[in-house]
Amino acid sequence: MCDPRRYLPAVDVLLSHQMMVRSQVSHRLKRRAVRELLAGERERLSRADSVPFDHDQLATQALARARSMAASRAPSVFNLTGTVIHTNLGRAPLAESAIEAMTRAASHSLALEYDIDSGRRGDRDQVVESLLCELTGAEAATVVNNNAAAVVLTLSALGAGREAVISRGELIEIGGSFRLPDIMHTSGCYLREVGTTNRTHTRDFEQAMNDATGLIFKAHTSNYAVEGFTASVPENELARVAHARGVPFIVDLGSGALTDMAALGLPDEAQPRQSIDAGADVVTFSGDKLLGGPQCGLIVGSREYIDRIRRHPLKRALRVDKLIMSALEATLQLYRDSDEIARDIPTLALLTRGEADIAATAERLLPAVAECLPHMQVSIAACRSQLGSGALPVDRLSSRALVIASTAQERRLGERSLRQLEAAFRQLPRPVIGRLHDGALWLDLRCLQGELEESAFTEQLCHLSLNQENTP
Ligand SMILES: *Cc1c(COP(=O)(O)O)cnc(C)c1O
Repeated sequence: MCDPRRYLPAVDVLLSHQMMVRSQVSHRLKRRAVRELLAGERERLSRADSVPFDHDQLATQALARARSMAASRAPSVFNLTGTVIHTNLGRAPLAESAIEAMTRAASHSLALEYDIDSGRRGDRDQVVESLLCELTGAEAATVVNNNAAAVVLTLSALGAGREAVISRGELIEIGGSFRLPDIMHTSGCYLREVGTTNRTHTRDFEQAMNDATGLIFKAHTSNYAVEGFTASVPENELARVAHARGVPFIVDLGSGALTDMAALGLPDEAQPRQSIDAGADVVTFSGDKLLGGPQCGLIVGSREYIDRIRRHPLKRALRVDKLIMSALEATLQLYRDSDEIARDIPTLALLTRGEADIAATAERLLPAVAECLPHMQVSIAACRSQLGSGALPVDRLSSRALVIASTAQERRLGERSLRQLEAAFRQLPRPVIGRLHDGALWLDLRCLQGELEESAFTEQLCHLSLNQENTP
């Protein structure tokens, strides 16, 4: 019997197949895909007594392989998880003007570290420093890669080799490997815990102060809440205790809002300005949480301490690039200039989106989804979105979800078909990320806003029914 591998086409033969020739994918990628495919086939045929595919099939497979190589590993998705500021899904969508600024910065040279008036070298912090000072009431400001970096840099610059005093109720883990005790250690500070998990008093801090004290640190307990019999020391008290010793008082706000959230009808969130007013010497917060800007860490505070932070060697290693700087500047300008901030900052627009508006989206989408999933039961249910990324951990926003469950007759297959369904939504051209809860797939529609997004969502549902038919 003759070797079936003999019937495999040569690379160039497959590359000149009509289907391959017509495809837009680069020649280099097609060649690689064909080579890999044929190698795989050769291997398969050497093991199994099976027939090789015909050329059409091989070309189809090679093209699929080439396309998947060309596809992004971080495609845009529909975030229907119910978590608005979702770290795994890239957090904040940017404002229109921030996107424009970023595009401009990407395509042109810009005066990033250059003083146009004097023609001399400038400092890139100057792009945003005056805006940050105006918005927070601080004397000076600097920017680094993210808030974790802001905390590490601040502690390294102001507390290395000395004790950092912090309440036991605030020794937080944010996620990833950001745990405050470890961060303190990495920054060269000696952790000095005071008080207890639920109650810490001014006298606890006063008693901990000694010649080795480097700073007092307060962390916003951003992903949990301590409730019941609790006590913590107000910021103005901590500032007083620190200043009596001549050491700085540092606040890590985590999210930090640049506008009054309560005035927008949202749960209240601490603002950097309040900490500065209370006497904090340095306040750090994220650029891409509630602020709704690009990923970065903002450090604001007194001129003296910000200068020390800026001179630390780590600052250079943690600096942000021109794209981030430009997007941040445009975002901060909105906070200074906008007549309607909750409309202009997409994150705030999503958070303040009314229940009735979300319900209307649900009504419009329901028929299309139900039509594509004839064997499922699709309904609309009230749900609660969360802000995410540690912002306002216990608060929830009323929202609406499409809830997809197995029909009663199929209850036995429920779990398996549900997982397949969830996967099918994830495998759409623009993946839809929902949440499995209570035997159903929940698609919280808070973050599916606008006609364009709605039609982008419904138009790709046809691929879903195809997947469904193919599932055994
Ligand atoms: C989120 C958060 C951080 C980390 O901020 P990133 O911008 O994600 O690096 C640090 N501290 C607190 C209190 C936070 O909530």
